[in-house]
Amino acid sequence: MQAVELIRKKRDGGVLDTDEINWLIEQYTQGAVPDYQMAAWLMAVCWRGMDARETRDLTMAMVHSGDELHVCDIVSPVIDKHSTGGVGDKVTLAVAPLAAACGIAVGKMTGRGLGHTGGTVDKLESVQGFRPELTREEFVHILKSEGVVLAGQSADLAPADGKMYALRDVTGTVESIPLIAASIMSKKLAIGCSHLLLDVKFGSGAFMKTVEKARELAQAMVDIGRLAGIHTVAALTSMEQPLGCAVGNALEMMEAIAILRGEGPEDVSELCYHDVAELLVMTGKAQTMDTAEQQVQQAIRSGAGLAKLAAVIAAQGGDARQVEQPHLLPQAPYKVMLTSPHTGYIAAINAEAIGLASMRLGAGRFRKGEPIDHRTGLVLQAKVGAYRQAGESLVEVHARSEAEARDLFETLLACYRWSDTSVQPGALIHEVIRP
Ligand code: URA
Repeated sequence: MQAVELIRKKRDGGVLDTDEINWLIEQYTQGAVPDYQMAAWLMAVCWRGMDARETRDLTMAMVHSGDELHVCDIVSPVIDKHSTGGVGDKVTLAVAPLAAACGIAVGKMTGRGLGHTGGTVDKLESVQGFRPELTREEFVHILKSEGVVLAGQSADLAPADGKMYALRDVTGTVESIPLIAASIMSKKLAIGCSHLLLDVKFGSGAFMKTVEKARELAQAMVDIGRLAGIHTVAALTSMEQPLGCAVGNALEMMEAIAILRGEGPEDVSELCYHDVAELLVMTGKAQTMDTAEQQVQQAIRSGAGLAKLAAVIAAQGGDARQVEQPHLLPQAPYKVMLTSPHTGYIAAINAEAIGLASMRLGAGRFRKGEPIDHRTGLVLQAKVGAYRQAGESLVEVHARSEAEARDLFETLLACYRWSDTSVQPGALIHEVIRP
């Protein structure tokens, strides 16, 4: 077989068979197919697409390119939850311990920030000593002892995805539904959970800008999950404005702790509680969403969800006191309040622009591997639909210097649209796709 034949076939709208896809991914992983040929093939996929069978074959070839953990052979059921990425998305930090507190094992590998979107590993690393890099033995041990493990991405799982993702990032080939679906699902299948809840974001702060594109991506992933024997459910959720109020690593950690105390912002708390309830129903631990939601509320009231977060952080080397007393988390030296220049209703907050503004404070990376400042970020004082008088607080900027905070004011004000008449924010959970 020759790579150039497979590039030509896809370029001309052909459908690759299973052997061809397996060969291409195997040869690329081993370095026998060079980056320039893989880049050409990826671009052909971006233009021509892939059918469901090809997408599944690509996913499985990527899974088989490295180690497989098979966690559900160790603990069953074991769930994973994945978000396609957004701004202020601290849902995993609350959902994983809360689900574990409700009796569902959570074996999760989680990533760093990508573009304007934050990453769960970066947020967890705002806790002193937290260690995301775990050996296979440590992963299994913590999963068994705590019922929840939050590890960083291992280079040994789906290595073909690691190579292809880095190449896609610099060749304009990220935005392809089959390629995104195969990339995300290959990592999930390599871990081998029994149940998977996907949070597919759409809107200004998401990679999928429209609900139609998000639905297409969600359906592709649910189909891959079904064919691989994993019970997969996808929720389409809005990322038109940042989720919750905090954007930035330690700030989001604090907000996740507030959610686990039942004191978080309404939108993000509801999404977290809904996700855990969905997982309880998916795994058969609750018969209906109503009874599941009661179990979730019980875990909040009793403090069991928060205790689980402290336990998993301690098991991974982190200082659990920072969870129990969040004021011990790292804090930026300057907190400067941006006030509203208008009197009126907030009609929109551009989530992507807010994410980029937070990156400028040091909370995210402009270049791969750059260090980040866990202390910095933004705390929105009002969300879409809120009424603000001129001079009232709008955004609290957590910065390394006052000048850095003030420099951002104009950019932040440009993120807001105002209305003289009242505005209703759209529903956060748009729809749920079940197998
Ligand atoms: N996240 C991934 O893991 N892969 C993609 O292709 C896009 C988002």
